[in-house]
Amino acid sequence: MTTVFDQAAAERRTLRHPEKAHRPESAVLRKPDWIRVKAPGSPVYGETKAIVRTNNLHTVCEEAGCPNIGECWSQHHATMMIMGDTCTRACAFCNVKTGLPQALDALEPANVAKAVAELGLKHVVVTSVDRDDLADGGAGHFSATILAIREASPGTTIEVLTPDFLRKMGAIERLMQTPPDVFNHNLETVPRLYLKVRPGARYFASLRLLERAKELTPKVFTKSGLMVGLGESRDEIMQVMDDLRTAGVDFLTIGQYLQPTRRHASLERYWTPEEFQGLEAIARAKGFLMVSASPLTRSSYHADADFARLRAAQAARQN
Ligand code: SF4
Repeated sequence: MTTVFDQAAAERRTLRHPEKAHRPESAVLRKPDWIRVKAPGSPVYGETKAIVRTNNLHTVCEEAGCPNIGECWSQHHATMMIMGDTCTRACAFCNVKTGLPQALDALEPANVAKAVAELGLKHVVVTSVDRDDLADGGAGHFSATILAIREASPGTTIEVLTPDFLRKMGAIERLMQTPPDVFNHNLETVPRLYLKVRPGARYFASLRLLERAKELTPKVFTKSGLMVGLGESRDEIMQVMDDLRTAGVDFLTIGQYLQPTRRHASLERYWTPEEFQGLEAIARAKGFLMVSASPLTRSSYHADADFARLRAAQAARQN
């Protein structure tokens, strides 16, 4: 038998994003002065990294190449990414590895709980890759992780940032049987850009997921996030805000999209800090309990302090 070495296939196997290998490259815009981040490397940063590694965990901080890792990990704030490091979707903005994922790690919920206790987190954000290969989309694994954290750290509040569970009947119902304190699912962008940016997702399905979470457990805060810089207009963002309010969403985050590589969705422009302030003011006026909008805002950025503000805002509104 003759084995023909397929160079292209070999390259695809080692790529983080094989589906993007044939996409045209686009120039990456130079970062403006206001995108400044703290360099990683403090002693506490090293402790965070050691706890993540010894518990055999993945974080979205590393896998997505988050610019805030130097600051967050210097405060032990790591966002756990469960169900492996390989995503079954191929979103054009995301730097998480794509491909065929491995089997679930049954020890992962306990390991996440152990890491949360070791990090001393008062509030933890748990997210995941998309797992379209699982019958429940991973809802059961989220539930097991929530239960394990509640048992090991009863005083810790829990925020989950989930996939859309598209076509996974009963998934959100299953997850909300073990309610987190915050249910987060990011819309990411405006509906017009879904085919380009989130081709495997459906805008109204994501919106409905948020609405359903609130219907199932009204006392759980709901949260969603948008990136700007992908070519959306201000009017389109206003419409998304209205849609989210109609779905009962409490908390909105808006941050600047940063293009991970030349083959990811092209960055059209940087929104200025003043524009972010304007978006935040409008979102507050539309009735969100809590809004965080700045160039470096990410779903889990300052999530602990924001959760305290969210509770305070709710208490103030009820009085
Ligand atoms: S903003 Fe979130 S994802 Fe980024 S480093 Fe901080 S905790 Fe991690």
